[in-house]
Amino acid sequence: MNTYHLSDLEIEPEKKGSDRYIKISYPLRYGRFNEIRTREHIFRFTLNGEIKTIQGSSGGWLETAEWLKRTAGNDWAYFSAGGYNGAYNYTGEYYIPCLDYQTNTIFGYGKFESMEVRNAFDAWRSLRQKLDGIDTGDLPEPVASLIDRILRMNSKNLEKRGKELHDIIGGPVSVLPPDTRHVEYDVIPVTIADGCLYNCGFCRVKSGMGFKTRTRESITGQLHALKRFYGRDLINYHSVFFGQHDALFAGIDTIAYAAEKSFEILDIEKSIMKEPRLFMFGSVDSVLRADTPLLDMLNNLPFFTAINIGLESGDPNTLALLKKPLSAQKIQSAFSRLIEINRNFSNIEISANFVIGDGLPDTHLPSILSLTRSQLDHFYPKGDIYLSPLEDIGSKERLLAGFNAFKTLCRLPAYLYLIQRL
Ligand code: SF4
Repeated sequence: MNTYHLSDLEIEPEKKGSDRYIKISYPLRYGRFNEIRTREHIFRFTLNGEIKTIQGSSGGWLETAEWLKRTAGNDWAYFSAGGYNGAYNYTGEYYIPCLDYQTNTIFGYGKFESMEVRNAFDAWRSLRQKLDGIDTGDLPEPVASLIDRILRMNSKNLEKRGKELHDIIGGPVSVLPPDTRHVEYDVIPVTIADGCLYNCGFCRVKSGMGFKTRTRESITGQLHALKRFYGRDLINYHSVFFGQHDALFAGIDTIAYAAEKSFEILDIEKSIMKEPRLFMFGSVDSVLRADTPLLDMLNNLPFFTAINIGLESGDPNTLALLKKPLSAQKIQSAFSRLIEINRNFSNIEISANFVIGDGLPDTHLPSILSLTRSQLDHFYPKGDIYLSPLEDIGSKERLLAGFNAFKTLCRLPAYLYLIQRL
């Protein structure tokens, strides 16, 4: 595609990025997007004209290659290199997404107060003013129509779009599975069941609703509306998140129907991105009742399926403190089951979460190590373990030291869980 020069702007419509998500230590862009470069910044837009990323091209941002990214739910995240080794060790990614809303205070909360970020948003406003002053009448069609789309996606409309997405699926996604980091959180959310089974006392992301499966009509209604919502940009998506907190409990018929219809209605086969993925949460009960027909069905989907289960602890005192209404024995059975599933189903990966934070009983961390070390005879690369910081993390240094000590002993890949919403 051509690059067009308009005074100090370089405009490149429909630029091609990578067709696979890759873990790499420099910023890589994915799919197809529109790009406008100024002397100080690189602005990238979805094919609908929505601002997607802002990256500095001078000063501090040039050295660290960090960037801002806007989600379809109209949140901004700051992707921080955070010292490449540190970021990778803690999160499994070269860049740590720092959010404009508080989920935990371990990484980068407050980035949005920095001069670079404030300058980037000012530059975005100036760019819009500049584009607004351009007479597009004589410009080639690809540039004129791109400028028109960008101008239509003003702040008010971007906010409206975020709300529209939430209205389609029945509310914001309060948390995405940690495994969605593998696709830079670029997932299309579809609610196939509301609520969860346990409504644990400690949980900050629960809806508070009891578990209820959506009807087939609701699922197909969402998918058609989502197709319209993503519009031209749909070709950049190949991954779907089945919400809310325990889609696995929805059972074989609902999951199979939703997966088949998602693949068909969202045109996943036509996506530019390769290796489609399906993400969902499960629970202790849903993994324990996942039988061979359900797992065979998931294993044969055209998606690679990643399921994340909240186990929290293997210690009865900690479970009681967290007000998670499950026995330690049941947690242990669910852990053994997920290990078994990971070994026997090549197209499914189940990850598990445990909590970490101040004020937990001394028996908590040993209980997790008893599962993730003592019950495994060697290191297994499949089935990530996420440690999810509680609201009260206490000393950040102590928490990170505790994590590092755990990671060294754990016989599965271990990372911190950074809660992201959509
Ligand atoms: S931890 Fe999971 S099961 Fe418990 S309340 Fe939160 S979402 Fe529901």
